Amino acid sequence: MASLTAYKPRYIDIGINLADPIFRGRYHGKPRHPDDLKGVVSRAIEVGCTKLLVTGSSFKSSRDALKLAEEFPGTIFTTAGIHPCSSSIFSPSHHRHHDESQSEDEPEHTPACDPDPTKPIPDGDGVDNARSAVIISDLKELITTAPKNSLIAFGEFGLDYDRLHYCSKEVQLHSFTTQLELAASLSPQLPLFLHSRAAHEDFVRLLKDAFGPKLERLEKGGVVHSFTGTIEEAKELMDLGLYIGINGCSFKTLENCEVVREIDLSKMMLETDGPWCEVRPSHEGWKYLVQFEDARRKQEEEAAKIEAEKKATEELERQEQEKIEAERRAQDELEKKAAQLELGGEEKVEEGGEKKRQRQPKKPKQQQPQGKKNQKKESEVPDRFKVVKKEKWEEGAMVKGRNEPCTIERIARIVVGIKGVSVEEVCEAAWANTQKVFGPL
Ligand SMILES: [Zn+2]
Repeated sequence: MASLTAYKPRYIDIGINLADPIFRGRYHGKPRHPDDLKGVVSRAIEVGCTKLLVTGSSFKSSRDALKLAEEFPGTIFTTAGIHPCSSSIFSPSHHRHHDESQSEDEPEHTPACDPDPTKPIPDGDGVDNARSAVIISDLKELITTAPKNSLIAFGEFGLDYDRLHYCSKEVQLHSFTTQLELAASLSPQLPLFLHSRAAHEDFVRLLKDAFGPKLERLEKGGVVHSFTGTIEEAKELMDLGLYIGINGCSFKTLENCEVVREIDLSKMMLETDGPWCEVRPSHEGWKYLVQFEDARRKQEEEAAKIEAEKKATEELERQEQEKIEAERRAQDELEKKAAQLELGGEEKVEEGGEKKRQRQPKKPKQQQPQGKKNQKKESEVPDRFKVVKKEKWEEGAMVKGRNEPCTIERIARIVVGIKGVSVEEVCEAAWANTQKVFGPL
């Protein structure tokens, strides 16, 4: 286990969907509790997650994210792009204008990271080219007119073949290609915030088409976030100079964790992808949180033991000093009396009397740290903040099932356990990588 030093971790959550209405207390269009976005941000800052890259995944969420950046300057930064799951706006069967597709009556929710291949939309519908031209021109307008200190990345965009029920493969490929062309045409370019799920081959091919076989024309680099692919895929992305974003979805299985072990710290960024992708006890990665807590408790116990021993030693020294003082006083007294009296017998009595009061004190009992058995009764992985159901919402508490950026410390701790390195190494590497690509933040 890596040492738990006095290092104070610092984090940048590179993928957090704070524009989702769930962070305003709205769940699937219905208000369930007060807007607690400020609490979410302050909990993040409390754990050291002082910079948040809020994902824009559609026109609406990209614009909402920009408003958040205004509300939290220096803390919230944003991306703008069209997520594969929001890409049906390119399709002719999508009747509304893209700007109307997410009205206030139908608050947009960021698609969850779990696959739901229930009703895949088949290819064949084609792409509405006139609509596509308007969308790309509007996206360019949005990106080029947004404040440069707020909007710091192009995305999220990419491919998601696990979720063809939101958008067909054909339309996703078009959406990705045209956005890549736009990204490559910008001057200066923006770093890319990319999404790739079960689509690696097409994903890499289209990236190379836009930026060259070694992505040599990709000026600012990019991150493939929420990575759940294979070791070979991760290596190919790293060889292309891309960074890899790790969140709770990256620790679901043993295979996932093996992949994380192979990702170089020099290529890793951390994210929560809240409100989704929380680490759950059923995930393989959870055991590393348990290990981390065990190590932390052991260290606390050892620190308490050392403290108790130090106190005991100090107490002994104090008593020793007292004894010496008392003996000195007794000696003075005797000398005084000897000078006054000629009788030697009294001396004996006096000496005996003093001796009685100077008995060697008992070594104080050391305070034993609480036994491990007692501590094990506590939750194995305690929550840092209180967690309540949304129906029982209270100020200052997290909402069960709604992942938020303060949980990023769990992502770092699991990486620490998997890779056998220190918290400091993980946090500082991810911080530096993020600053290099998206910064200075
Ligand atoms: Zn994503």
